Amino acid sequence: MGPPLVYHPAYAAPLPSGHRFPMQKFRLLRDRLEQLELASSERIHQPLPSPRRWLELVHGRDYHQAFARGLLSTQEVRRIGLPASTPLVRRSWLAVGGTVLTARLALSRGLACHLAGGTHHAFPLHGSGFCIFNDCAVAARVLLAEGRVRQVLVIDLDVHQGDGTAAIFAGDPQVFTFSMHGASNFPLRKQTSDLDLALEDGVEDAPYLAALGRALPDLLSQVRPDLVLYNAGVDPHRNDRLGRLQLSDDGLYRRDWMVLEAVLRRRIPVATVIGGGYDGLAALVERHTLVVRAAHELARIHGL
Ligand SMILES: [Zn+2]
Repeated sequence: MGPPLVYHPAYAAPLPSGHRFPMQKFRLLRDRLEQLELASSERIHQPLPSPRRWLELVHGRDYHQAFARGLLSTQEVRRIGLPASTPLVRRSWLAVGGTVLTARLALSRGLACHLAGGTHHAFPLHGSGFCIFNDCAVAARVLLAEGRVRQVLVIDLDVHQGDGTAAIFAGDPQVFTFSMHGASNFPLRKQTSDLDLALEDGVEDAPYLAALGRALPDLLSQVRPDLVLYNAGVDPHRNDRLGRLQLSDDGLYRRDWMVLEAVLRRRIPVATVIGGGYDGLAALVERHTLVVRAAHELARIHGL
């Protein structure tokens, strides 16, 4: 039947026409997965908005209230790059709830996929780069606080460094942050993850997968996580507008397969989030299906 998927129709919050963030991708991704028979309605779980106490395990009240009330400064809004609106506020709280739900489903089922999430540039007191709240950071903190897990590993393969996540968990031994990203790409000022692999522009499938393949076994055996949160951003793709790397569709698929297989063969639960991707909607949505396809295949192989 395949892994559980988490989705909410309100994820595709309306943006002013011509805005460069592809907000409709969430709805189109769900539709496309349904077309591929990978998203039957009984597999889809709809999240509730994150309760405030979860959000505040990571984010300051002044920040999230100012965001909700439209009181962030022009500079703060510009740094986020999305215009504050009621639907956007709602979808931000829902997407955090969605990643927490995905992580819970991963713990109970072994593998679960969020059809959103991966807003890794969000810091405790400010947003950045289309990211308002750091969903994976909140999910890690919630499950740690509940005693459901003792050690979390974030594997962040979005082409941009997971700077917010790195900063949030700097000095926190219970969450290990791993980011593999473009060295010259946003954010220009990098944070220090527990493990950073910074790639030069133009890296293609083979060296990318080789670098990942070298890193994963030691990472998993040394961190020994109870849960992996995997950001499967598709912006390392060669056609991505913001990417600067040269991965093919097949390269992305093999990447997702490699991560999920390495984790699942060790019987570690894994929750995936889709992360970034910037291209025409049809091509982009197709790319975001890859992690779900890999998850579906591996769930079958591992009997999940
Ligand atoms: Zn990105």
